[in-house]
Amino acid sequence: MKIATPYYLIDEKKLLRNLQIIQQVRQLSGAKSVLALKCFSTWCVFDLMQKYMDGTTSSSLFEARLGYEKFGKETHAYCVGYSEEDVLAVAQFADKIIFNSVSQLERYCNTAKPAKLGLRVNPQISYSHFDLADPARKNSRLGVTDKKALADHISLLSGLMFHYNCENDDFAAFSSQLDTIADEYGDIIQQLEWVSLGGGYYFTKEGYPVEKFSKKLAEFAKTFGVQLYLEPGESAITGCAELVTSVVDVVHNEMDIAIVDASVEAHMLDLLIYRLSAKMENDNMGDYKYIVAGRSCLAGDVFGTFQFKDQLEVGSEIRFADAAGYTMVKKNWFNGLQMPAIAVRRLNGAIEVVRRFDYLDFMNNLS
Ligand SMILES: *Cc1c(COP(=O)(O)O)cnc(C)c1O
Repeated sequence: MKIATPYYLIDEKKLLRNLQIIQQVRQLSGAKSVLALKCFSTWCVFDLMQKYMDGTTSSSLFEARLGYEKFGKETHAYCVGYSEEDVLAVAQFADKIIFNSVSQLERYCNTAKPAKLGLRVNPQISYSHFDLADPARKNSRLGVTDKKALADHISLLSGLMFHYNCENDDFAAFSSQLDTIADEYGDIIQQLEWVSLGGGYYFTKEGYPVEKFSKKLAEFAKTFGVQLYLEPGESAITGCAELVTSVVDVVHNEMDIAIVDASVEAHMLDLLIYRLSAKMENDNMGDYKYIVAGRSCLAGDVFGTFQFKDQLEVGSEIRFADAAGYTMVKKNWFNGLQMPAIAVRRLNGAIEVVRRFDYLDFMNNLS
């Protein structure tokens, strides 16, 4: 069966590889893992994911509800800024509500019952290659910096959340930062039930020292008598999806440029935001060099420059790798372009198109 492009293709076998590493960390360390839905909310594979993870964490009421309804298990609800209506709604189903500031905690601690309450801390250390994504950047609004205020509110809390990493694949950096947190916050942490260390650990990367990582987590949990949580987003789904496109035109302006039936701006937005090139398996293999670009009218809608084995022509298929995290959750209707369908290669090898989008979805997105 040939599926009409464009479509995102999620591969459950590749997903399973990540999930098994998460499972291993859970078993070796005792730390629970909750999926960060802001990275990946494509719920057609949640039945598989929930066998290997402990629940979800979220950035908003709607994400929290999706986690509760479609993933199940533990529902952690965090938001940078709750309204009272949000808190009333999440309190209906969330196991934990994590506030971003002392003022939100004070304002909503009664409304939030019976959920367990947590507070996000900004430990003023971080690991990130991008200022845009650095929770400890100058004037950051993400989490509480005032340790005294934290200590003063401990009676309202059952736990703390630290999220201060972004794609950290450096175990030594992780280890020394965890030591810093232990030194700085140990006296507070030992009075609590749980600590979430957030996401941004790239522990599913090939070659990452999973056993050392787990041991470090287990030692921390034991020292302070807390249940640890990790909130993997990218590391849970890394490498498990492609964006499959077709060439619709080839033009020339000093270089050959292949235009495909998808768009960076609309369908892989993070590449533009972080100024990264798309990835392609088996690229740089052949003699034919092309700029591959999207079909939106944005001049900089460019996936990257790649070498192909064969000349590209209208109808040639181009697959962009690593299209699961921060892609589908950010897709948009800019230019009214055809929205890529969502397809899944199930564990048994069968490919299922789980969602197609059409003109009515575009129309109904606005009014
Ligand atoms: C973004 C985020 C995550 C997930 O981060 P990844 O880098 O995708 O693992 C987890 N927790 C919080 C609070 C976040 O903001």
